[in-house]
Amino acid sequence: MTSVEVTTTHLRENPYELAREQLSRVASIFEIDPNLVEVLGRCKKAIEVSIPVAMDDGTTQVFIGYRVTHNIARGPSKGGIRYHPDVTVDEVRALAMWMTWKCALMGIPFGGAKGGIACDPKKMSRHELEGMTRRFTSEIINEIGPEKDIPAPDVGTDGSTMAWIFDTYSMNKGHSVLGVVTGKPLTIGGSLGREEATSRGALFCLRDAVAKLDKSLAGQKVVVQGFGNVGSYLAQFLHQEGSIVVGISDSTTALYNPKGIDIPAAFAHKRETRSLAGVKDAEVITDAELLELDCDILAPCALEQVITEQNADRIKASIICEGANGPVTPSGDAILEDRGVLILPDVLANAGGVVVSYFEWVQGLQEYFWKEVEVNAKLNDIMSKAFDETWETAQSRKLPMRVAAYGLAVERVAEATLTRGIYP
Ligand code: NAD
Repeated sequence: MTSVEVTTTHLRENPYELAREQLSRVASIFEIDPNLVEVLGRCKKAIEVSIPVAMDDGTTQVFIGYRVTHNIARGPSKGGIRYHPDVTVDEVRALAMWMTWKCALMGIPFGGAKGGIACDPKKMSRHELEGMTRRFTSEIINEIGPEKDIPAPDVGTDGSTMAWIFDTYSMNKGHSVLGVVTGKPLTIGGSLGREEATSRGALFCLRDAVAKLDKSLAGQKVVVQGFGNVGSYLAQFLHQEGSIVVGISDSTTALYNPKGIDIPAAFAHKRETRSLAGVKDAEVITDAELLELDCDILAPCALEQVITEQNADRIKASIICEGANGPVTPSGDAILEDRGVLILPDVLANAGGVVVSYFEWVQGLQEYFWKEVEVNAKLNDIMSKAFDETWETAQSRKLPMRVAAYGLAVERVAEATLTRGIYP
């Protein structure tokens, strides 16, 4: 038996400490009771499990997995499951805390959770991934459920992963439990519009932001880092709106064309080869250069901590749309704030995914499914309301959008906690 060891990481700073720092800053600006900040700064529950997997070569590997619940004051906890070599419990804790703020900002009745397994899904066969997912589900089976904690896809997981979780959970309960996960394939109770929802929400957010600046998305020069679920659909949507997508990247390749990349062709190429390597009519650059390209809108849609104090002063975009969770560190944030860059923070910009996950959960509980136009219209309503509330708070209190968004969210969770009272 071998254990999987992780040696390198994309995380320069401890994400959980950064998330706690953000909370303290926001809590002091919004004058939240320090006793409540103590409560909100901790995760309610974190479990670590070992996951033995029979690999195709006959060996057994043991992977480490986590499921963390940050807070359930406003409803059952909700959050994705990440498969990536760098996953640590502190990364999962930070992501769980951000989920709490995101759901509160959107006004949907969920708390925050997250899960992950330290593994490299790109190096595993489908059979190995299925075995790992089913064993992980069994290990956390008493922690999840439609009224308790509802996983969804995140980096390195997708509809198939959710199908295996749904099936394993349902087999153990003896009947199909549609509400146990979201992001399921349509054939087994997924929601129309869920796959593109995070990107569509980011698009609505960008549309509203440029409108406030008396502009439109047409003609805006855009760079998108990450070409997975979030980045690839966002690039497609912006291309359809007439924006000029001059840069895109994935973990293997970064591409640049000042006249605009052929996004439908890049999308098809990525679908076919699972990589951006070999996309035509674009210059290959480094990922660091990509972030610093001359553009109006930069959308980091890959991983955390890509904009830091080391590169923030070289970012040329005037709007940053955080498709990823936590792509800008607090020290990077401070530099961008001073430079007047408009940041559409993660808890707002990428919340479309959890909003449509909420719709999927509701549809699953009622076993009554909506048309795609209905899903998209309801998503638009919720995103626009959250954008307007955040914008108004930022303007009236002269705050950056991130502080306004987190402030509104933390106030709501604090209020729910106070209303319920501290048990016992
Ligand atoms: P994904 O696995 O589908 O895609 C991630 C992409 O990032 C891949 O194309 C990968 O190649 C690329 N990538 C990884 N490292 C990179 C690097 N150093 N430079 C450039 N590209 C790199 O994951 P996803 O679901 O699209 O999630 C992306 C981000 O969005 C994560 O931060 C996730 O937490 C966040 N998010 C996802 C959802 C969702 O619904 N999927 C919702 C909200 C937030």
